Amino acid sequence: MPEETFVIVGASLAGAKAAETLREEGFQGRIVLMGEEIERPYERPPLSKDFLLGKQPRDKAHVHPADWYEKNEVELRLGTVVARVDRDAHQVWPESGEPVGYDRLLLATGSSPRQLDVPGAKLQGIHYLRSMGDSAKLREALAPGGRRVVVAGGGWIGLETAAAAREYGNDVTVIEPEATPLHAAVGPEVGKIYADLHRGHGVDLRLDQGVAGFWGAGQVSAVVTSGGAEVPADVVVVGIGARPNTGLAEQAGLEVDDGIVVDQSLRTSDPDVFAAGDVAAAYHPLYGRRIRVEHWANALNGGPAAARAMLGQAVSYDRIPYFFTDQYELGMEMSGLVVPGEYDEVVYRGDVKGLEFIAFWLAGGRVTAGMNVNVWDVTGDVQALIRSDRQVDTARLTDPKVALTELS
Ligand SMILES: Cc1cc2nc3c(=O)[nH]c(=O)nc-3n(C[C@H](O)[C@H](O)[C@H](O)COP(=O)(O)OP(=O)(O)OC[C@H]3O[C@@H](n4cnc5c(N)ncnc54)[C@H](O)[C@@H]3O)c2cc1C
Repeated sequence: MPEETFVIVGASLAGAKAAETLREEGFQGRIVLMGEEIERPYERPPLSKDFLLGKQPRDKAHVHPADWYEKNEVELRLGTVVARVDRDAHQVWPESGEPVGYDRLLLATGSSPRQLDVPGAKLQGIHYLRSMGDSAKLREALAPGGRRVVVAGGGWIGLETAAAAREYGNDVTVIEPEATPLHAAVGPEVGKIYADLHRGHGVDLRLDQGVAGFWGAGQVSAVVTSGGAEVPADVVVVGIGARPNTGLAEQAGLEVDDGIVVDQSLRTSDPDVFAAGDVAAAYHPLYGRRIRVEHWANALNGGPAAARAMLGQAVSYDRIPYFFTDQYELGMEMSGLVVPGEYDEVVYRGDVKGLEFIAFWLAGGRVTAGMNVNVWDVTGDVQALIRSDRQVDTARLTDPKVALTELS
């Protein structure tokens, strides 16, 4: 039988980890990993944290050492935009050059920042943060300190960037349309904890208002809020969420619904095409519905799961969503799904004021999500609680003397 070719589009965490798993599982065919960026695959979390702060060298973010690809016979084609997939011919077409035939195809095309479409949006000094290059440019703008920085959007990236900007000694204003930051990610209760944290570190947090436009002659000089206020700005960072990069899948005629639709084995409706990472809207057995997760851990684990499915193994990808962040003195890990309106209450174990606690989101008396703040080595226990789907006694849940393992 001729050797098979597996093509992966998207040379980032999900794609690179899929290539690694294919080799680990003994796949001896050809692997072609194609990516638009010129940097070899790297992880993005440091881009709004230690890399942005100049505390982490560039090379520490890479998924593999530079020689790994050659050693493992993975054909890494960087700076290569895949323009078209011809599913009938089983070929992917780069923007320029020859098509590449595939037996199985993985789409790991990730997501891109949502753009702010308001007057003045193209002025100099307005930054988005997705790539290593973006982070390096933003670092140059923040590092001198003493500048007026306005962050549009109080989501994870906005808040992490605000923390970094403060650490460099800049004046920072965050403009957020919801009543609390992180509304969609954690709801208002825990959002308030982050609001207090940032205000405590001198951030001017303007809630309940969006960005209506920017002033400036060439270079941005002020941000106009939906409330009509003008906030002077030397540097603006826009962090208003991301959109899945589904263009290629749409062109290929695959089903797309806020992400590339895949089953629990990360396979699309075409048995030879798979999707993983930020771009995949995957059926999740635990939740009984499709979810799309824009988290590092989902790329780390989803890429390998898709690789195993590509090899014909039985795969049921049912990882509980997991996220982490560091801002100032607050480090946390979060497991589960929080959808405002779908939970009944949030309860706490530990010292909320002292920022050493675990928050639990409860629906129908069951834990649906947990966030451990400056409390470590509990993720497994928190995830076991979520997975058990058992009703818990809130008094015991909030009592630090009761082991979490007794509750699941
Ligand atoms: C600044 C920042 C900080 C973050 N911090 C955290 C964090 O603290 N914790 C956490 O859990 N998550 C964090 N995330 C999210 C996490 O990085 C993402 O979930 C992860 O990068 C998703 O990986 P991916 O491989 O699915 O997609 P991506 O990393 O988006 O990579 C997709 C790749 O595909 C390429 N591509 C797209 N279309 C094509 C095409 N047609 N042809 C060729 N190539 C293409 C893109 O250029 C890109 O390189 C952060 C993200 C950012 C941007």
